[in-house]
Amino acid sequence: ILKGKTALVTGSTSGIGLGIAHTLAAAGANLILNGFGDADAAISDVKRHGGKVAHHPADVADPEQIAAMSDYAQREFGGIDILVNNAGIQHVAPVEEFPAERWDAILSINLSSVFHTTRLALPGMRKRGWGRIVNIASVHGLVGSAQKSAYVAAKHGVIGLTKVVALETATTAITCNAICPGWVLTPLVQKQIDSRTSQTQGNVAQARQELLAEKQPSLDFVTPEQLGELVLFLCSQAANQVRGAAWNMDGGWTAQ
Ligand code: NAD
Repeated sequence: ILKGKTALVTGSTSGIGLGIAHTLAAAGANLILNGFGDADAAISDVKRHGGKVAHHPADVADPEQIAAMSDYAQREFGGIDILVNNAGIQHVAPVEEFPAERWDAILSINLSSVFHTTRLALPGMRKRGWGRIVNIASVHGLVGSAQKSAYVAAKHGVIGLTKVVALETATTAITCNAICPGWVLTPLVQKQIDSRTSQTQGNVAQARQELLAEKQPSLDFVTPEQLGELVLFLCSQAANQVRGAAWNMDGGWTAQ
């Protein structure tokens, strides 16, 4: 259903972003991957679906590098039809001990980057008369958790920005929505599990279960593939009137 469309997924060399890139490529989209780490492995992995796949190394903390990625997308792919803002980082510490430098990094990577990619992608979407913007927020865009001040502030901001962009594009064929995942077992969450193993005498399985039991009633992780399918639905015709939503996929986290 996405043949001829180009998708940019930020932070797609790992975890959720890579899962979403796979689903969109399998549906026929051309893909621009982004993120750190092994770009070649991610490219060849996503290429097996048969579309055009490239990687741009922009650090989304830097607006100038985002602009360079946007120019690259225009030059090499004719623009971005589907923008998935997924790149994100986490830091866990009480607010009085939270390093100011981590606060700034989280706000720029998890929130400001969404503003920059969106403002640069919208003119092309308007010109071509179609577009999809999907922001990977979090349950932490809807509720808080202790020790995650910057992350929770940034993700609440992403949901606010999503609503405004949805209103500004409401009469067009461009939609903007946010997805709010609960725990997904990716490197970002593995770090939090690892830091819990000191309390579970090194038992990783127990640390993982305790992490789930605290917040996620299903006691099971959301998967990148499930999130990819939700992104695909939001890209479909059937989702034309889904606008400004903050759609949870969280094993019941925010139902409590
Ligand atoms: P991850 O650490 O596995 O992947 C993050 C990706 O972002 C990687 O490709 C990394 O290279 C890239 N990235 C990091 N900083 C970047 C930068 N400055 N510029 C460009 N790329 C950068 O994390 P994940 O768990 O897959 O998280 C993806 C998104 O999903 C994040 O926005 C995160 O907040 C959100 N999320 C994750 C969970 C979860 O449980 N894992 C839950 C809710 C929301």
